[in-house]
Amino acid sequence: MARHLKWAHVYRFYERVEPLLNYSVPKEDKPQGSRILVLAPHIDDETIGCGGVMMKHVAAGDRVAIVTVADCTPARIEEGRAAGAILGVQRHEFLPFASKTLLQDPAVAERLRGFLREESPDLLYLPALLDRHSDHVALNQIVARLTQEEGWRGMIYGYEVWSTLTPNVVVDISAQRDRKAAALACFTSQNQSNNWADASLSLNRYRGITTGAGDYAEAFHRMTAARHRELIAQVWR
Ligand SMILES: [Zn+2]
Repeated sequence: MARHLKWAHVYRFYERVEPLLNYSVPKEDKPQGSRILVLAPHIDDETIGCGGVMMKHVAAGDRVAIVTVADCTPARIEEGRAAGAILGVQRHEFLPFASKTLLQDPAVAERLRGFLREESPDLLYLPALLDRHSDHVALNQIVARLTQEEGWRGMIYGYEVWSTLTPNVVVDISAQRDRKAAALACFTSQNQSNNWADASLSLNRYRGITTGAGDYAEAFHRMTAARHRELIAQVWR
């Protein structure tokens, strides 16, 4: 279903985000939580958006599971598995759904509900809710409904892929930078259409410089599941 984003809603969104910037801790060494579920609309989103932070979770002994929802062709799965092996994640699932159909197919939410129950995560990572791709928006809408229905109360970290965001958390990934570069290099098919490896690491460099978090940093919009639902309801109707 095509959703119409009205600018008035975007302005209201930033008005709501702004107070969070004042009292949030702007830098985290590693987000707090030991069970991590990373949701990716497409194979590579997760590595672009939070590859460095996933490695920090893994190094700390946290459990990290990635679930990719759409466009999981055999060639892309191979690339995703190679990247996941570099990241060191414990679980990597690839669902059989098609791009642009996520809101229409009730099976998407049901599969994600299963992972939410199985993994029982403390933290959910997913594309930021204003990320500029319809599948990324759709995934946010599905997650908002699921967290309500499941009574899930953890923290959500929105990550950057197609759009930059207004961060309220940054994480230093300088020590993970080279391995993130190696993981990004696995996405041969995607790097041919856009140089994602360059885009991602350049953005990480910008985040590191502009926040003082380190040489390289990943930036997030962190919010409770309840806040995420409120913002989704405000921005998309
Ligand atoms: Zn994507």
